[in-house]
Amino acid sequence: MAISFSLAGKTALVTGANTGIGQAIAVALAQAGADVALAGRSEPAQTLDLVAQAGRRAVNITADLSSTEPVARVVDEAVSALGRIDILVNNAGIIRRDDLLQFSEADWDAVIDTNLKTLFFLSQAAARGMVAQGGGKIINIASLLTFQGGIRVPSYAAAKSGVGGVTKAMANELAPHGVQVNAIAPGYIATNNTAALQADETRNRQILERIPAGRWGDPQDIAGAAVFLASPASNYVTGHVLAVDGGWLAR
Ligand code: NAP
Repeated sequence: MAISFSLAGKTALVTGANTGIGQAIAVALAQAGADVALAGRSEPAQTLDLVAQAGRRAVNITADLSSTEPVARVVDEAVSALGRIDILVNNAGIIRRDDLLQFSEADWDAVIDTNLKTLFFLSQAAARGMVAQGGGKIINIASLLTFQGGIRVPSYAAAKSGVGGVTKAMANELAPHGVQVNAIAPGYIATNNTAALQADETRNRQILERIPAGRWGDPQDIAGAAVFLASPASNYVTGHVLAVDGGWLAR
């Protein structure tokens, strides 16, 4: 039988898809055949347009994912709009930068809550339906800081390291139910999230010097890995964190 990367007939829920990596993933899933629900706090007008241009259905679910409060509603709205959730992409995330010695509790909690706590409980809520329907795909957006400590971003390093842990924990318990759980660790990708780094001449030069590919990544660079992990081609891949980093970790 031919290996299939097609998502025809599938449905996906993508968080934080109005910009950057989430937008590129939502559009790529649609181009591969999936209808998509977009959950986030900002209107994803451009993404809705791009999905429509790909000939697929897109629905917007307004939700502030800085707490678990909207989790059950987000899953309910996605299921009532699209019928079921075959693919969940946990992409929404924030970063807070400050020197370690003055890093605040507020900056700790905000990042852990959005990037790790909501990711887990949204996955749990979606996984209940996936187990009931006999299969599904969960893709978490991790980071190079799933493997490294970074500089001036301790809550982000903690949250993204946690994302690596819960990806494996969820994979172990959900594998018998036909649900694969994986993560993508993007390298340095030019988005809002990294605007401060791109603008800092010294850090920008240091980063570029260390990337074997010699350039910042584009959100599009992440999309192919997401389609693979969402498709039947990856049915025996689970609990894996796939780096898409222009060779950064290999160096
Ligand atoms: P981005 O353009 O800033 O995208 C972040 C997305 O998350 C936006 O849609 C944002 O919505 C949404 N979001 C943030 N807080 C939210 C909340 N409380 N409720 C709902 N949505 C929320 O940056 P990005 O680089 O594409 O980031 C996407 C993911 O990739 C994040 O998890 C990030 O940690 C990860 N990542 C990025 C890089 C990189 O180099 N860029 C590297 C590794 C990992 P708003 O537009 O409303 O803020």
